[in-house]
Amino acid sequence: MRFKEALTYDDVLLIPQYSDIESRKEVKIGNGLDENIHLDFPVISAPMDTVTELNMATSVAEMGGLGVVHRYNTIDDQCIIVKNAWEKVEIVGAAVGVTGDYLKRASRLAHHGAKVLCVDVAHGHHKLVERAIKYIKDLLHDSVHIMAGNVATLEGFNDLADWGADSIRCNIGGGSICSTRIQTGHGMPGLQTIFECAMSDRSAKIVADGGIRSSGDIVKAIAAGADFVMLGSLLAGTDESPGEKVVTLGGVKKEYRGMASKDAQIKWRGRYSSNEGISTFIPYKGSVETILEDLRNGIVSGFSYSGARTIMELQTKAKFIKQTNAGLGESRTHILGKK
Ligand code: IMP
Repeated sequence: MRFKEALTYDDVLLIPQYSDIESRKEVKIGNGLDENIHLDFPVISAPMDTVTELNMATSVAEMGGLGVVHRYNTIDDQCIIVKNAWEKVEIVGAAVGVTGDYLKRASRLAHHGAKVLCVDVAHGHHKLVERAIKYIKDLLHDSVHIMAGNVATLEGFNDLADWGADSIRCNIGGGSICSTRIQTGHGMPGLQTIFECAMSDRSAKIVADGGIRSSGDIVKAIAAGADFVMLGSLLAGTDESPGEKVVTLGGVKKEYRGMASKDAQIKWRGRYSSNEGISTFIPYKGSVETILEDLRNGIVSGFSYSGARTIMELQTKAKFIKQTNAGLGESRTHILGKK
């Protein structure tokens, strides 16, 4: 059997190129989610119960991005969050599943102002996702944007696009709290999925999801073909993420957990089956606005290193190079390890 090489974020760098950008204000990192929804900031917060409820959904939208409110609550609770966010901001997203009362949830969320519905399952290249997209489309027509996923392959991406998804979450097993690859032996290095899905001739947008740890990773994801990035750990642990701060010997922390972790499953459905995530406490980071502002500055700086003023220009100009482990060591700040 011949094995294909698959790369991820740390395996590559973007080669710096000639730039005529004199001011960072010339760089526009906004993008269209579809013909009706434009985001000035290509960042989407993950539908997780330690990431996106009211405060995160409004803060990310106020910065020009999109918050997707998680579905691990009652329909009423999720609708109240969406309704309260929609007063405050124009665009709010919300997640639904593919079984049980998901159609009722979808219709009520749309009624309460959700403009984006995210069909949110771990293995999106699945018959149940096809059925869910069809039924939601039959019910709500084109009044909502449908995001779906997750997929790891071009075949998966094209199928979801053909089933009616307007944007598709790409990457399986790459999340910081994810143990899917260890638990199931399945997955694909995250950036490789983006490179492959970018070859699609469908118009659905690519959302690079999971494993993104820095503005540099965001620039690499976009350069590889992503239209947007979805973030969990980068936004967790902030004032705007759900949950209380806890004081530990290691400092002030907040919980961040995978939605397929044992803890999360027990909380939302009283039992657990395949445990494909972990639950942990991460350092408290303060306001998400500061985090988002830092990310924006890093992304804009990244675009200018490739001489690109827009996402399309970055994707056209980007030149990737594969780096060795020694190169990666040099890329990281390394004075602290110096003997
Ligand atoms: P992060 O930004 O690397 O922390 O990854 C966040 C992403 O991990 C989410 O958007 C989901 O796609 C994924 N995810 C969330 N919960 C789990 C889980 O329990 N197992 C596997 N993946 C998860």
